[in-house]
Amino acid sequence: MCRGLSFSSTVLKPLSLSQLQSDQSLSEKEGDYSNSPQPFIQHTPLSLSLFLSLSLSLFLSLSLSLSYPAARSRASMTTPSSSGLEVLLNTLQNAGDLESTLNILNVLDELLSAGTDRRIHYMISKGGSEALLMALVNTASSYSPNYTLLLPILHLLAKVGHRDRRIGVKAEKVDAVLVILRLLRHNVKNSRRAAACLWVIRVFCSSVSTATLLGQNRALDVVFDLIAPPTATHTHTIKAAIDAFAALLSSKENCRTAAGKGYIAGLLKLYEDWHTHDSEHEHLQIRRAFLHCLHKATKICLGRTALVTDGGIDLLYTTVQSCLLSKAAESLVEPSVQLMRKCYPKIPLPLTSDHSAYSFPLPGRPLGVWEDDPGVYDGSFEDDSDEEQENEESDCRDFEDDLESDVGSLTARPEPDRPLEQLQQYTHLFPELQHDFQDLESDSEPEESSDEELLNGDSEEKTKSCRRSTENSRVSPSCSYPETLTSNGKNPDQDGRRCLNARDFRSFSCPQTPEDGSGSMVEKLLEKYGSFIPHHDPRLYIAAAAQTKSVTDYSILAFPDFWGHLPPLGPEPMANRKPHVQRKKVFEDVQRLLCPEDIINRVVFDMEDTSVQCSSDVPTDSLRFFSKFESGNLRKAIHIRRYEYDLILNADVNSSSHHQWFYFEVSGMVANVPYRFNVINCEKSNSQFNYGMQPVLYSVREALEGRPHWVRAGTEICYYRNHFCPNRGQRAPSFYTLTFTVTFRHEEDVCYLAYHYPYTFSALQSHLKDLERSVDPRKVFFRQQTLCNTLAGNSCPLITITACPPSRAWRNLHQLRNRPYVVLTARVHPGESNASWVMRGSLEFLCSNDPVAESLREAFILKIVPMLNPDGVIHGNHRCSLSADDLNRQWLKPNPSLSPTIYHTKGLLYYLNSIGRKPLVFCDYHGHSRKKNVFLYGCSVKETLWQSGSPVNTASLKEDPGYRTIAKTLDRIAPAFSFNSCNFLVEKSRASTARVVVWREMGVLRSYTMESTYNGCDQGIYKGLQTGTRELEEMGQNFCQSLLTLRKNAISYNSRLVSHAAAILDLDNSLLDHKSHNCFEDDEPPCAESIEYSCYSEPQRAEELDAEVNGNTSSTEEEGEEEEEEEEVKEELRNGRRRSQRKSSVLSHMCRQDSLETLSMKSSACNGINISNTYLS
Ligand SMILES: [Zn+2]
Repeated sequence: MCRGLSFSSTVLKPLSLSQLQSDQSLSEKEGDYSNSPQPFIQHTPLSLSLFLSLSLSLFLSLSLSLSYPAARSRASMTTPSSSGLEVLLNTLQNAGDLESTLNILNVLDELLSAGTDRRIHYMISKGGSEALLMALVNTASSYSPNYTLLLPILHLLAKVGHRDRRIGVKAEKVDAVLVILRLLRHNVKNSRRAAACLWVIRVFCSSVSTATLLGQNRALDVVFDLIAPPTATHTHTIKAAIDAFAALLSSKENCRTAAGKGYIAGLLKLYEDWHTHDSEHEHLQIRRAFLHCLHKATKICLGRTALVTDGGIDLLYTTVQSCLLSKAAESLVEPSVQLMRKCYPKIPLPLTSDHSAYSFPLPGRPLGVWEDDPGVYDGSFEDDSDEEQENEESDCRDFEDDLESDVGSLTARPEPDRPLEQLQQYTHLFPELQHDFQDLESDSEPEESSDEELLNGDSEEKTKSCRRSTENSRVSPSCSYPETLTSNGKNPDQDGRRCLNARDFRSFSCPQTPEDGSGSMVEKLLEKYGSFIPHHDPRLYIAAAAQTKSVTDYSILAFPDFWGHLPPLGPEPMANRKPHVQRKKVFEDVQRLLCPEDIINRVVFDMEDTSVQCSSDVPTDSLRFFSKFESGNLRKAIHIRRYEYDLILNADVNSSSHHQWFYFEVSGMVANVPYRFNVINCEKSNSQFNYGMQPVLYSVREALEGRPHWVRAGTEICYYRNHFCPNRGQRAPSFYTLTFTVTFRHEEDVCYLAYHYPYTFSALQSHLKDLERSVDPRKVFFRQQTLCNTLAGNSCPLITITACPPSRAWRNLHQLRNRPYVVLTARVHPGESNASWVMRGSLEFLCSNDPVAESLREAFILKIVPMLNPDGVIHGNHRCSLSADDLNRQWLKPNPSLSPTIYHTKGLLYYLNSIGRKPLVFCDYHGHSRKKNVFLYGCSVKETLWQSGSPVNTASLKEDPGYRTIAKTLDRIAPAFSFNSCNFLVEKSRASTARVVVWREMGVLRSYTMESTYNGCDQGIYKGLQTGTRELEEMGQNFCQSLLTLRKNAISYNSRLVSHAAAILDLDNSLLDHKSHNCFEDDEPPCAESIEYSCYSEPQRAEELDAEVNGNTSSTEEEGEEEEEEEEVKEELRNGRRRSQRKSSVLSHMCRQDSLETLSMKSSACNGINISNTYLS
């Protein structure tokens, strides 16, 4: 047999390794050979490895030629392309001879255990799985299978198969699936063999069809029978059985079978037994495996129902409470919590309809005909992060696919969407171009500002718009504000000199309650408590509110809007998230199911049914809620436990979704008691509430005591997917809960809670009035006009700001009329109130006496539409207008009757283009709910092409890099701004946003969306702080300041300006040293606790299976593995060899000597090759 060939033991091992190494794909650059038992291989010269590979081929073909027809072995093994590995594999699946098969298995095991996973993947690519499967089929098909061979085959198959995604398909191909099931059936009494079979079954189930096939052949029954109660020994077999059962459940058909046969109840019972029995926590792995198995079984509705019916929630709740007591059992808590969340039966929101409580008849559409609103039902809520719809799941490739990669569509300018003649209607919106400034010559006093006009609501303009709206929209103007306030108000001083307190404001909130009309409540209030809030006048606010038209005719003002807000004095750090907040909240949620009798479940507020909050049924110890005021949107409040309330938000008008913004009033509280509030119908899949953001709170009592602040408030804040689903769709995805706890400082206060600092349409109107009143009309050209009327008949204001010319000299007028235009817009998304505060900062600054502002007015004409969606803001919408459209998706072809504000803002821009006055800058202010800081989105052809991987040679494209100037300047001067969050990419999905349309159609190079965080900053001097209105307004000011850099060569410098603007104008030259960022990147690390529950799964690491497989190999098939293993370790220590962590022991029971020696061929023996397989003898 031996033909005189001899190999020293040092040769054979490197032989195979070096052979493999000579294959490029296998060479492992990280140097993980440090763990290899043969480190010198790295230095094996190429020629040597060639020699060795030849030798191996020779050796194999020679040694095996006896058992194989020579021709076949030569053909299959020594083709020039065969690598050593292929030779081994070929031999393995063809061998019938025990010795050589064992040898090959041994070599393979050595090979695979020495390297990294990459080596196994290489083996898979060379047909390793198929070879092992064939070996399995061949060996198992004999009448009395040889388990000395089978066990190592099964062990290798488990290891390799675990890393081969197609192992199931491959197994089906060679009919190995039923073979393994048969083997298992024959060996249910032999724990070691059973375990080996179970592991292989488990890896086969990585293919769903294989799992189904196994299930159809009753594998579930066989495997389940092996999942023994805790009294049994052979725990590794039990663990293997649970894992295999879980793997079988990757097939939904098997899940149905399992639920139908009562296996879920069985698993729960076993889990309980193990839990009870395992008080020392020695079998955590098994208990975890049970939970994993239950997770798989509850993938389908039937499984979840079975778990609940079989008392699973109760069991999990009880067991997890005891797990909480021991640190050792901590690892069981999270899977249990996730399982409870997942199986918690879905409950439709307690509403009669998902549709908004407010509806509005749209022009050309009959009332009551709802647009199909697929958002809720199509399986994915719209994620409306800000400018854009972001798909949370989109990975990098989706993002790149979304990038515009066609140079043509990036550079072509589409035709206008309307005839040029129509643009003449906008001429009157450019008074600065026609105004003759005669008043500059006359000494007449500036026109008296028109408070009267606003207060009385009788100006021509107002009357006109009022009438128009009534005709158009059938919304009757709520012109009764002042009366409502005064008639409902009490005069505190009249009833017994009692001090007015917060409670008095409650009286506004119950219109049913008749009050004595005692006149000047507001005046008294202001007289007694009025504090000075810059640029806010409560009287102006009331007057403005009286003009505001709404679907519901609001008759109540929210106190903070009317009274005004001052930013609090100190910084407000982001809230610390305590560990396991979510867990705690989920336990409380689960208790609702377990102890329903503890739940009050009483509606204490219903937007649609005012009788609720006035009814005597509402107990006095319950909080009172209210939201029927501008921007308010609480639909329903439900008393859950003594200090806990569920809150349901109203959908956007005419829609059945977009719940995220909230604003409501709460009163009747007890001081110093923590109240838990749950907003239970949020839609976004994550929120900054998980990352330090708090809602805002305003206390009337505090305001009256001189602290009129919206403050960040709330503890134990957390945001997670819950068990509520839309009213009409059990199949629809469930909602998210925002939960927070507020401890009110004052007894019987009236407080307001909101998603973010409210800023109503009436607030804008009164602010504009205040601004107009405050500017010096001889210096500042400030005009407020009506761009158009909204659907509800409100006027959409357009503001023009520039400097009046120093004289009427032709030169001055010419300079004025040739100033470049800057167009600013904001609040297209009503839930983004931060955008309004930023806009307020911009307006405030532009009208100020600051020298930079003066220069800006001299350098530019600013056209500002501060609120693109007044109707949405008024009605407390989060995303849409009254037409239920996202107005920032209407820019491509805005409908003049459904999206008038967009239609006419676009018209304004067309007009500017038509007179050759393309704006220098366009910016639309937004808020971003998922990111921190403030940043810009812009448009760049080159950056988009680079990022999209377009083959176009961008070097030949010319692009003005000036689109980055403002962002770079802001990065330097605005503390909240972060250049690193900016990007300048043009996405296809955003082709209809303001930014992209203004850039593409109007050719505005600097066309931006500015996104401001709801939360705070993670860089700069505001790092770790939540933003307040002060910071938002500062951002608006900074944005305007940055415009100065665009005109630094044109402005006239004076010393005052230079000293103020040095920082702004200090432009450096490194405009291109920042890279754009993928705007889909979440800037948050994964949340500490899983927000979703449906994707929860136990991580199944390959190493875990390896370790289990390795533990199944001792010299005998009897019990006593542990001693065996110990012995092995000792022996290795004796040999002075450190056992590599990854070192295999698949064949360790055979390899009592060092594995090298196992295969060594000693020349001393038998005049030739002697394969010293001691275990064979
Ligand atoms: Zn937005």
